[in-house]
Amino acid sequence: MKYRVNKKNGQELSILGYGCMRFARKGGSILQEKAEEELKLAYDAGVNYFDTAYIYPGSEVALGKFLSKGYRQKVYVADKLPHYLVKKEQDIEKFFQEMLERLQTDYIDYFLVHMLNDVESFERICKLGMREWIAEKKQSGAIRNIGFSFHGNTAKFKEIVDAYDWDFCQVQFNYMDEHSQAGIEGIRYAAKKDLPVIIMEPLRGGQLVKGLPEHAKDRIRKHEKGYSAAEWGLRWIYQHEEVTVVLSGMNEKEQVLDNLRVASDADAGSFDESDAVFIEELRKDILKQIKVPCTGCGYCQPCPAGVDIPACFTSYNMSFSEGRIAGMSEYLKRTTMKKNRTNASLCLKCGKCEQHCPQGLPIRQHLSEVKRRMETPAYKVIAYGAKHFGRF
Ligand code: SF4
Ligand code: SF4
Repeated sequence: MKYRVNKKNGQELSILGYGCMRFARKGGSILQEKAEEELKLAYDAGVNYFDTAYIYPGSEVALGKFLSKGYRQKVYVADKLPHYLVKKEQDIEKFFQEMLERLQTDYIDYFLVHMLNDVESFERICKLGMREWIAEKKQSGAIRNIGFSFHGNTAKFKEIVDAYDWDFCQVQFNYMDEHSQAGIEGIRYAAKKDLPVIIMEPLRGGQLVKGLPEHAKDRIRKHEKGYSAAEWGLRWIYQHEEVTVVLSGMNEKEQVLDNLRVASDADAGSFDESDAVFIEELRKDILKQIKVPCTGCGYCQPCPAGVDIPACFTSYNMSFSEGRIAGMSEYLKRTTMKKNRTNASLCLKCGKCEQHCPQGLPIRQHLSEVKRRMETPAYKVIAYGAKHFGRF
């Protein structure tokens, strides 16, 4: 196992982190024995970073059972607070105590504000006493490092990085998101401030493996290096020196072994010119099957009507590449299940956004297509329920 140093505190973190959101299940329940075997396999090979979240069903409890068997002091545990469920000051402590109980521990090494996508959300919880609460927990040792996970665009990422004295951050990064989400620009920005960068969705939830177009799969099969699709994706990330840990949501022994193998010999700066060209060819293959070639840069934002244009296009594209259910779920999560909605039908067709899009996209026309495909009768029922009976 290779390790990279957290420049903020000197800890050596394994470059492969265990993402605990995808443990295998049967009938909705996590297969505990199987999960523990896989966790142990990773631990024995040197993985020392384990990531979970309050909202991953059963994940904290499953990880907690494993940790209680003598591993707790030997690894770093990351867990995430669902800030969007925090309505009053006491909620922060209530969620935290529940997290500790589920994990069977009394401290969390890497504590994250989950899905913190804009500064306004951070300011909202700060008004509920978040800054003072963090200071107190760090003082007592109940929280060792404070960070945030992020799914917005580069500009918003930089704003959040600058809004607080963070100890680390977690972003989505893979060869299709080099210039979207926080992007390489955001990652370099964070790394310049010595913030450890934890990577999630290194294979875009499997899209860069099972979801690849046949043409791309064929290219990979014929390549002389013999890497698998997953290996190309992981090696591309590891070669960035700004990256500290890459999380992989493993739930098969073979997958763990394969990821361990790659993590034992992947170095920063290891890609040569021909590797970079090959990744570019894969990108082109994938982009051909993408309907709206939006890079997610966010230059079109903010929209005066509040539309989250990149989120609309990402979900729309997903509905073709990964299926309608995956796309719809992303669309609901990113534009609808929140207090201020940002979905496509809010568009007033003013055209302001189109003046700023570096890709020259006819954004208004594409948003009409998004509305037609995504805002189905089923969507409207869920959106109505979320507004009237949910917490939004
Ligand atoms: S055209 Fe629509 S999406 Fe674009 S800025 Fe105007 S209201 Fe927003
Ligand atoms: S629509 Fe254009 S400006 Fe907006 S995020 Fe996509 S590529 Fe960037």
